[in-house]
Amino acid sequence: MSGILAGISDARLYSACVVVVLYLTTCAYFLWPRRRPAIVVSGNNHATLIAFASQTGFAADLANRTAQSLQAAGAPVMLASLQNIDERILREAKSALFVVSTTGEGDAPDPAAGFVRNVLDSSVPLKELSYGVLALGDREYDNYCAFGHRLDQWLRHQGATALFDVIEVDNGDEGALRHWQHQLSVLSNSPDLPDWEAPRYERWRLTAREHVNPGSAGDACFHIELRPQADASASWEAGDIAEIDPRNSTWDTRLESLPHREYSIASLPTDGAIHLLVRQMRRPDGEPGLGSGWLTAGAKIGEDIAVRVRSNPNFHAPETNVPLILIGNGTGIAGLRALIKMRIAGGRHRNWLIFGERNVAHDRFYGEELEQWRARGQLERIDLMFSRDQPERRYVQHRVRECADELRRWIAEGAAIYVCGSLQGMAPAVDAALSEALGADTLEELAIAGRYRRDVY
Ligand SMILES: Cc1cc2nc3c(=O)[nH]c(=O)nc-3n(C[C@H](O)[C@H](O)[C@H](O)COP(=O)(O)OP(=O)(O)OC[C@H]3O[C@@H](n4cnc5c(N)ncnc54)[C@H](O)[C@@H]3O)c2cc1C
Repeated sequence: MSGILAGISDARLYSACVVVVLYLTTCAYFLWPRRRPAIVVSGNNHATLIAFASQTGFAADLANRTAQSLQAAGAPVMLASLQNIDERILREAKSALFVVSTTGEGDAPDPAAGFVRNVLDSSVPLKELSYGVLALGDREYDNYCAFGHRLDQWLRHQGATALFDVIEVDNGDEGALRHWQHQLSVLSNSPDLPDWEAPRYERWRLTAREHVNPGSAGDACFHIELRPQADASASWEAGDIAEIDPRNSTWDTRLESLPHREYSIASLPTDGAIHLLVRQMRRPDGEPGLGSGWLTAGAKIGEDIAVRVRSNPNFHAPETNVPLILIGNGTGIAGLRALIKMRIAGGRHRNWLIFGERNVAHDRFYGEELEQWRARGQLERIDLMFSRDQPERRYVQHRVRECADELRRWIAEGAAIYVCGSLQGMAPAVDAALSEALGADTLEELAIAGRYRRDVY
């Protein structure tokens, strides 16, 4: 086919042919021999490419569901096995989602061998491409999710922009798959996309709620406490996520099946309660956000909330007593607070917090507690950045740049860096500042070694 097309200059004709070929091969994949349900595949330049690499069919199924979710949200999609993807398709795509398994010794699934040989070993300029990776694997094996990470690294090196960090799925973990669905709802701007599988919620009671930033220039934030009821298993680790069912919401009766919402847990089981720090969001029409509206205003104190704890191993504290640099903004302090508490409980005091909000007068989340930890020597260093307290805006990334020498010293001493907070703005700016301070190669090595981790949303 490429020979026939070589003489045709019209790139659009080529694209159309490619789409037809993808459509036919994808239909063939789903219809034969497994007789999977075929989906309507619509292809054009604005379509999100959904590419899968499947050994047993699981990645193909998830890619199919991904396509269906985006289509339900009105987003055009182009679904294809990685074996049918070439450089040109990647160059023409504006956004792509990759659903890929890892097999053997960290290898790509067999059908993707040609893609690995022909594409991953070459260099393709992909500055226009935004992408996300769902990496399927099994934590029991070495090289967990290795192919997903290899693909992610290759895409970054080609200049493509990650929409979010690689989502690892251990053995089909439903919580991780719901996190992927959260990203699909953000990508398609459809916050009401239903969950593929509703979480198995447990009952927790709303026992405390405090407005912690009255007078703030930002939206209201609430410290929230949820205590386990009879059936709830109150075990989690710092870094884990609470999935909340906004089903009881009196704010929104339009939907039968409401999607879960995710919040970083700010406490430890020894606190006896899940603490959350929730910012009250509003939809463009002024309606309260589904989850944040329910937690911060809709639910009454003493009311039961359906909660499921999602393990988030990628953001668990380092296992050894290495120094820890914690960087974040806004409600990102929630996940960092749990990590600091855990470090202190383990007698690990080499902790350095770099945290940003708007005004010191209104936005010192957990300010007294942080100060106490510093006074007791449990938090070695705190750098607070209040962006609006001086004429020029100053953010955490500025502090990272100013502290480059000290950061390099901590890294030389084996420190890990954990970042929690805004995916828009903060996370990429901090990433760029760290890359400047430490060098892009070092930062990549730290990420591979699990010493640079992020929980950003
Ligand atoms: C891993 C993870 C951890 C999170 N931890 C926290 C946390 O600790 N505290 C917290 O307050 N939130 C946290 N969030 C965000 C939270 O899950 C919800 O997205 C947020 O509360 C808005 O949901 P909603 O149902 O209230 O609003 P929706 O009904 O979804 O919509 C509200 C409006 O806000 C916009 N919107 C939705 N999400 C965001 C966002 N993240 N940033 C900017 N605009 C948005 C939508 O476009 C919409 O217009 C976390 C998200 C993830 C994925």
